[in-house]
Amino acid sequence: MASSRFQPDSRSFVDMEPAAFRRAAHRVADLVADYLERLEGYPVLPQLEPGSIRARCAARAPEQPETMDAILDDYLQLVEPNVTHWQHPGFMAYFPSVATGPGILGEWLAAGLNSNVMFWRNAPASTEIEEVAVAWLRDMLGLPVAFDGMFTDTASVSSLLSIVAARHVVPDLASRERGLAGRPETGRLRLYCSTEAHSSIEKGAIVAGIGREGVRRIPADAAYRMQADLLAGAVAEDRAAGWQPFCVVATLGTTSSTSVDPVREIAAVCAREKLWLHVDAAYAGVAAIAPEMRGLFDGWERADSIVVNAHKWMWTPFDASLLLFRDPGAFRDAFSLVPEYLKVKGPGGQGDEAAAARLTDPTFVHNYNEYGIQLGRRFRALKIWMAIRAQGRQAIADEIRRHCRMARELASWIDSERDWELLAPVPFATVCLRHRPASLAAQASEPEVQRRLDAHNEAILDAVNRSGDIFISHTRLAGRYTIRVCIGNPRQEMRHVSRCWELLQEAARKIAV
Ligand code: PLP
Repeated sequence: MASSRFQPDSRSFVDMEPAAFRRAAHRVADLVADYLERLEGYPVLPQLEPGSIRARCAARAPEQPETMDAILDDYLQLVEPNVTHWQHPGFMAYFPSVATGPGILGEWLAAGLNSNVMFWRNAPASTEIEEVAVAWLRDMLGLPVAFDGMFTDTASVSSLLSIVAARHVVPDLASRERGLAGRPETGRLRLYCSTEAHSSIEKGAIVAGIGREGVRRIPADAAYRMQADLLAGAVAEDRAAGWQPFCVVATLGTTSSTSVDPVREIAAVCAREKLWLHVDAAYAGVAAIAPEMRGLFDGWERADSIVVNAHKWMWTPFDASLLLFRDPGAFRDAFSLVPEYLKVKGPGGQGDEAAAARLTDPTFVHNYNEYGIQLGRRFRALKIWMAIRAQGRQAIADEIRRHCRMARELASWIDSERDWELLAPVPFATVCLRHRPASLAAQASEPEVQRRLDAHNEAILDAVNRSGDIFISHTRLAGRYTIRVCIGNPRQEMRHVSRCWELLQEAARKIAV
């Protein structure tokens, strides 16, 4: 036998020794705990030049191992101070994406297990914890048991999967087998959402082959809600013109103003026209955990699919999006592909033989890869399950109520000032506003007033963001530059909201219109 220069198992790669791993893990725990304790000492928005962090990193990957202590020292110097601090109570720019303790611990444990939740046999406990967490959340939201579901990474993907499922159930289209292109016999598919719907819906349409032209934006009313009567008219008009309407996306809590589409009316149009109804409640959905807020969600129980992000206003570490659906078969039929190497026989199995047995099997479990695009999936359910257990439904609901109260308080301050105005109702915990000095109206024509107000409010926003205490963002509502203040972090108290208001007023005083 020819002798090899190397023994087959000779190697230079070694994972961390258990004792070294334990020591480093304790240091990591301290780093995170220290970060959360001193978080408020950081400017929420670091003032950095693009490329400045990259310039401080080695240009090439190291040939030889470095010590974990050296790496963690660099983390502390280079990374921690130079992120935009989403966890910071002064972060009010975008909808909350905040991680609280139990979820962070769940994320760590999931990394240790590295359980890949593709199908039950490969991830039995992880699959069943996902089933439990989905059912708990569905119940907490007050939705009927008829909804099945799963976790995905983001609302963008949850909506994409829903659009593909909606496309799949279009009669006689057979898009899964035949695709959409080069088929003159089928009408072009049309999806409807309001002018205020999130860009992820249009992205979903791009990926699903509907195209941006296939998305018809229904005008919103003065409170930024979809006008359901115009929806019905648009569907009729499109059918007459040869389009094939197939899906409507209603938003509960739009990104710009948190407006609430009239879902019950939209659901009635969908039922009449046989259209799939997807509800994007990515931000606001969790508010339904507080029963008295469910009036805002009236009719969402009639949806075919619903997305609610746990990683937004439920403070689960990013990423964690809950996708609920009424007909799991639509998703499974749209996405399931089980090649030979993934077939599993017997209880909990997947693949052709197992599929037939599944329906009557009391030990039914989800093989989650069959309901979406991904084969390998993260064990997201652990952090959600742990967070729900550690916090409890009641405290989560109370915290959402507290955020809404703080937002209403801020809104009342704005309302009581002659030179400030609210630009949208405040159904949840986001406030849309601008500074509008009364004196300005007399000085110039209306378009000129608007132009100057836009520039003025942009300058106010920049000044607040330079403070380091508060980070806020903007949007446009009815063409007007609008400052958005998003409350929703359990670390936020009224003193943070007051500081935001103080900074806004201070900037408005200093900056000329
Ligand atoms: N839908 C709405 C209404 C949103 O506000 C957002 C993000 O803020 C999204 C979808 C996209 O969420 P994700 O980042 O989870 O894809």
